[in-house]
Amino acid sequence: MELNDLTIAEMQDGLRARKFSATELAKAALAAADRAKVMNIFITETHERTLAMAAESDQRFAKGMARPLDGVPVAMKDLFCTKGVRTTAASHILDAFVPTYESTVSANLWRDGAVLLGKTNLDEFAMGSSNETSFFGPVENPWRKLGDARSRVPGGSSGGSAAVVAARIAPGATGTDTGGSIRQPAAFCGIAGIKPTYGRCSRWGIVAFASSLDQAGPMARTVRDCAILLQSMAGYDAKDSTSADLPVPDFATAITGDIRGLKIGIPTEYRVDGMPAEIAAVWDRGAQWLRDAGAEVRPVHLPMTKYALPTYYIVAPAEASSNLARYDGVRFGLRVPGTGDLTGMYEATRGEGFGKEVRRRILIGTYVLSAGYYDAYYLKAQRVRSLIARDFQKAFEQVDALLTPTAPSEAFARGEKSGDPISMYLNDVFTVPASLAGIPGMSVPAGLSGNGLPLGLQVLGRAYDEETVFRVAGVLEQAAAFAAKPEPWWVKP
Ligand code: GLN
Repeated sequence: MELNDLTIAEMQDGLRARKFSATELAKAALAAADRAKVMNIFITETHERTLAMAAESDQRFAKGMARPLDGVPVAMKDLFCTKGVRTTAASHILDAFVPTYESTVSANLWRDGAVLLGKTNLDEFAMGSSNETSFFGPVENPWRKLGDARSRVPGGSSGGSAAVVAARIAPGATGTDTGGSIRQPAAFCGIAGIKPTYGRCSRWGIVAFASSLDQAGPMARTVRDCAILLQSMAGYDAKDSTSADLPVPDFATAITGDIRGLKIGIPTEYRVDGMPAEIAAVWDRGAQWLRDAGAEVRPVHLPMTKYALPTYYIVAPAEASSNLARYDGVRFGLRVPGTGDLTGMYEATRGEGFGKEVRRRILIGTYVLSAGYYDAYYLKAQRVRSLIARDFQKAFEQVDALLTPTAPSEAFARGEKSGDPISMYLNDVFTVPASLAGIPGMSVPAGLSGNGLPLGLQVLGRAYDEETVFRVAGVLEQAAAFAAKPEPWWVKP
């Protein structure tokens, strides 16, 4: 077996049994990254640091002092600040920003021995569902439609992280999810990914998009690998006032394979108009797998679902407009002098530094927060957000978890939606409600479409009950037995 094909759990076993070293794993990952350059997965590569961290892991193995993730290569979404390593948020305005501090989530991974494998590409400031808004150019999905050599999007915004795992370059990567950015790219690339409960992972040192929604989480090929990574990433952090001061359960042991007696809800309102038959079919199949495993599956109602997208696309831009006000050419990153006076410098810097989608969000956000429209839009959206959260609370009085598709489509072709923001936003229809409610959601690969592209199923759970989410996801994963791999067209013979 190739080293790059191993899961994180298998790497941990092999490293402990001295079948291979951390350095060998790191070299295999770096070589795979070199072969895959056409996919544009990395914004910044970190060869030297990768090898240095692997060497430190090997030393700890030699001394019998290995830590839980020692030697496991993990790619970092380039939204996590990494000390001394450029962190761009895929934006021109930050393209020369080298943080002097480390995000808490990445620091937790390094504390446990993980090895940094580069900074992955994303939509600019994590705004997007296709990775096409990156200043550094789009990422290509390793998967292609059967008989069609056109590029497919990997989803977004954590598209580079999804592609790096699907292409078997790294066994795991970090993502962030504000409205679906872990779950939707995981679905598009045929891997697993979990957005934990808001507050489970610290947001400290993550470039902020919409602070009341942003949440970090792992992306990997298996449910167990996601549990292993989340174990390390999660935990209370005094530096983030919204971080939850709760013990972190043992996520991997929650994957028991036994869901007998669990109640699973199928939200009727998620059967949206125009849903492709294949998506409906994979959803029905998923429900049957859970029934076969002994769960009780029943319909539930989330009547506010249809308001989730408009609510999200008010709340997220509002928070973004406020968060992105800090990029003024004075304190961070790019400065363009413009006409020379202060206002001219602000305008020139922001006009040049932000891409089109980011500018659109700042304008929408500023508008909905403006004195004349605040009540009509922002306040109203906040109220609806509470109602959406209440929908979930009520549903979770009847059931232990919910099952939905992750996205309403397979990975679309590059350029297919980038000219039409509304159709792009509609792709988030199944992921956004859980973000607004702050509850955990996980995408698991469930099968291939008729076009040979991956489809994902989403499991939603109660706040701070990632354990049930993992348990249900583990059963789906077993039933789906998703073993397909993308054809490595990017490797030249
Ligand atoms: N696609 C959504 C957006 O564009 C979600 C992005 C995210 O979760 N970061 O806002």
